[in-house]
Amino acid sequence: MKVYFDNAATTAIDLDVFEAMKPYMLEHFGNPSSIHSHGRQVRTAIERSRKKVADLLHAAPAEVFFTSGGTEADNTALRCTVQDKGIKHVISSKIEHHAVLHTVEQLEKDGIKVSYVNLDGHGRVDYDHLESLLKSHPNTLVSLMHANNEIGNLLDLEKVGNMCEEYGAVFHSDTVQSMAHYEHDMSKLKLDFAVGSAHKFHGPKGVGFLYINHKNKIHPFIHGGAQERNMRGGTENVYGIVGLAKAMEIAYSDMANHRKHIERLKLHMIERLKASIDGIAFNGVSDDLDNSLYTVLNVCLPPNDDNDMLLFNLDIAGISASGGSACSSGSSIGSHVLAELNRDQNRGAIRFSFSKYNTLEEVDYAVEKLAELYQPETTSA
Ligand code: PLP
Repeated sequence: MKVYFDNAATTAIDLDVFEAMKPYMLEHFGNPSSIHSHGRQVRTAIERSRKKVADLLHAAPAEVFFTSGGTEADNTALRCTVQDKGIKHVISSKIEHHAVLHTVEQLEKDGIKVSYVNLDGHGRVDYDHLESLLKSHPNTLVSLMHANNEIGNLLDLEKVGNMCEEYGAVFHSDTVQSMAHYEHDMSKLKLDFAVGSAHKFHGPKGVGFLYINHKNKIHPFIHGGAQERNMRGGTENVYGIVGLAKAMEIAYSDMANHRKHIERLKLHMIERLKASIDGIAFNGVSDDLDNSLYTVLNVCLPPNDDNDMLLFNLDIAGISASGGSACSSGSSIGSHVLAELNRDQNRGAIRFSFSKYNTLEEVDYAVEKLAELYQPETTSA
């Protein structure tokens, strides 16, 4: 049996998405910047895609900018906001994705003051600390992710948005893991910047977008041609953009059912693991269905001599999971997120992440294989 439980790293492309992209690979190949009919036809496809994404987000098309993915969108939001909006201070957290964390570290090297908000032992943001940081620092940019890619913790976007508004801070949230999994309503959320990456919701890799609230005027991060209304130079990834919009449309059209299905898989795995492995626990709040991303379950396994081999042994059994974020797939060693939590580092950690294509049978199979690795005779004394 082959089981793919690494959907937070990337998802399988939906066949309907591929079909929507195909004409833009084979027939409609014009450059969207060309003014002849071949170009105009393709330009129309991009603008139709932009309108689709904007409508789903309750945003204006002029607030959506296509990028090469989440990393570029995060970099653009952070770098350009600091550059163009007189930012002197950045508040972020130690458990952000490296797309944010490494960018913030670079900004610090460039002389920007950086504060990391306190987290509790489960990786939850201390909102009182956040408020005290905001109170004492004018000209601040807050960058806090909505859904953590490793442990699934959810941030209260409404609460942080209101706080940022009260203290006049700019609010960027890395929404890569939650985009097209939750209905973000940009007309209500007080977000200045949000991010999407198509390959996290059954779209193609290498394409994403940055939502920029119209109140924010920033200059481009990538200089070049006049594409994306002068905000991002470079010939557009046309079939990627078409695929992104189609994937988002599909995700929204059946979101409640997909969510129900995936939550059932997650709950089933929690229950089966508790019944099968003594001393099992969960990292972050990933077993709290109300406060975690429904696609992610990060399992905390009892100390065992073979814990270093966990992912390898699951792989041998045909199960693809992860120990951390995509960049460190294959190993739980070095996860900067797990390192911030109050947990026994001798314990094993595996992130299982689900999609609409997974089944209860797959969950049963994975639990069975995992439990085999934790039979009493194989554990250390
Ligand atoms: N932010 C988060 C939370 C992610 O999970 C990822 C991908 O793993 C990224 C950013 C980067 O997105 P992309 O792969 O589109 O560059």
